[in-house]
Amino acid sequence: MPRSSPHSSRRTRLGNHGQQVNKNWRIGIDLGGTKIEGLAIDAHGRENLRLRVSTPAGDYHGTLSAIRSLVEDMEARLGEGASVGVGIPGALSQATGLVKNANSTCLIGRPLDRDLADVLKRPIRLANDADCFALSEATDGSAKGAPVVFGVILGTGVGGGIVINGRLLSGPNTIAGEWGHNPLPWPTDGERPGPTCYCGRAGCIETFLSGPAFSRDDGRGLSARDILAAGDAQTEVSLARYEQRLARALAHVINIIDPHVIVLGGGMSNIARLYETVPRLWGQWVFSDTVHTSLRPPKHGDSSGVRGAAWLWPAPGGEPESGFAVTTEPSVAQDCDPIPETIWLTRDPPDPDTPPLPERPLPPLRGEGEAESPRPETDSLSQMEINLLLTQRELMVAKTEAALADAAKSRFLAAASHDLRQPFQAMNLYLQVLEMSNLEPRARTALSLLHNSMMAGEELLKALLDISAFEAGMVSSHVTVFPVTEILHELADEYRNLADERGLSFRTHAIGALVETDRVLAKRMCRNLVHNAFRYTQKGGILIGCRRRGNRLLIQVYDTGPGIPTDKLQMIFEDFYQLDNPSRDKTKGLGLGLSIVQRTAHLLGQNVWVASRLGRGSVFSITLPLAPQQEDPPPSG
Ligand SMILES: [Zn+2]
Repeated sequence: MPRSSPHSSRRTRLGNHGQQVNKNWRIGIDLGGTKIEGLAIDAHGRENLRLRVSTPAGDYHGTLSAIRSLVEDMEARLGEGASVGVGIPGALSQATGLVKNANSTCLIGRPLDRDLADVLKRPIRLANDADCFALSEATDGSAKGAPVVFGVILGTGVGGGIVINGRLLSGPNTIAGEWGHNPLPWPTDGERPGPTCYCGRAGCIETFLSGPAFSRDDGRGLSARDILAAGDAQTEVSLARYEQRLARALAHVINIIDPHVIVLGGGMSNIARLYETVPRLWGQWVFSDTVHTSLRPPKHGDSSGVRGAAWLWPAPGGEPESGFAVTTEPSVAQDCDPIPETIWLTRDPPDPDTPPLPERPLPPLRGEGEAESPRPETDSLSQMEINLLLTQRELMVAKTEAALADAAKSRFLAAASHDLRQPFQAMNLYLQVLEMSNLEPRARTALSLLHNSMMAGEELLKALLDISAFEAGMVSSHVTVFPVTEILHELADEYRNLADERGLSFRTHAIGALVETDRVLAKRMCRNLVHNAFRYTQKGGILIGCRRRGNRLLIQVYDTGPGIPTDKLQMIFEDFYQLDNPSRDKTKGLGLGLSIVQRTAHLLGQNVWVASRLGRGSVFSITLPLAPQQEDPPPSG
């Protein structure tokens, strides 16, 4: 590689050098002011692992080490290397290779990309966080498939990114999509010269459309969230003004790049009515008789920054030709071990091409489009209309907050899964030590009870974590081909003692079929069904049977339990539903087992169903895909 200057030698444009890293995993790093988040996604964008550390504030070298440790930790957990893309709250100067325009001041003037490539010993890609947001939403978010996408962050600051045909646009000045520090277009007299901006100018879009700007403009000293929660006439006025300004600022963008989709992100993007009101307003300023641009909320929400960082290394085949992404090589490229290619049998998930958009049921507002009046007259709204709006606003705020809290909880549980299970493993070891020591009979009885309680606790925790992993979208499947007898024999071994203790018969009729699916998930489904059968069967027995059905293998778990009333058949798959357990007998678990079976089956593109007769028993059936050469039954039938 020619080394004409310290910068150009290590900064290579894609395409010119055929630079491409195809790895199974993409790690995205979102470098924020308070936390550094790492996310690993697979080739289909499915999230596998998410870790967060706090940002060593004001400490540049500490920040580099924190990122290195985070990547090393993630690769250790993944068991293999990954490509790394980094999103930062700033941009890299093409002229100097140094960070500029960052609001984390310790980064400014630093060659962050080169230093990161050096400490991570591999080529890395680095982009502005708004660019990452736009790339994420354009790649597999709410703007997936749209040829021209403008992504906007309306948060503490305001920024934008442009993605064209799936590629992040990065021009010769690396400022493509810089939007927040243009002046607010078509300003009214009251908006000139506008608030002073940290960039040194006045009246920048950011000074009108960021969260703090919305708060300041409202004038009551409330946070943006509290303004929305207040939901009074003043809130209505502030929101109407905000919408009108956003419409003008976006109309300007539409006039220049004519995007198919504009995606909003950042805290202000949670205001559901923007997606209805703003497109109705922007036509006044777009220089066209019709506007087909679609304004959408983000699909990945707060995760878009870190997902987009990961997508800076696009999927194989999606590699840009040139001029769209910049790769920085480490100084000593030889240190970077090539990651061997492996073949993944992962199936494509059902493609969520058109993600459902959040509800936006708010009615049209009067007083919109009053361009010359910064404060629309509130008495144009009747008191009844205002009351209606307030109620709807409160509902909307509560709903958004609940959804955000729910998502955060699920992500936390999934990420903390390892840490939460660890104490149980430790307790198990200590119990084994105690069991081997010389205890008096009373202590031994207590120990046995303690052991049972601990096992029950561990099982409940596992079920909760499994559910939360599903809810956080962090369960992915790794498909392999294996004989189904393997997992059925393992289950037979696992449950034989329990069957003997309870005086139940337990039989397995497996056939020699090869299935092609995720072994761990398939076994978990079967085990949950067997476990459930044991839970409800007091006499008689349990039978696992298999048979071929076209290109699938049907696995059925029969029990001689009490059976399920017809009207309860669907409910048993719901979270926390337990049949006939009004006293919430703890030995019956939380009622999550069947819900996990159903979610797993859906993830694997398979089915689960149940048939039952009261007083006779039930049969739960699942399917697994047969390996291709197994699809046709043998000629003998
Ligand atoms: Zn500015």
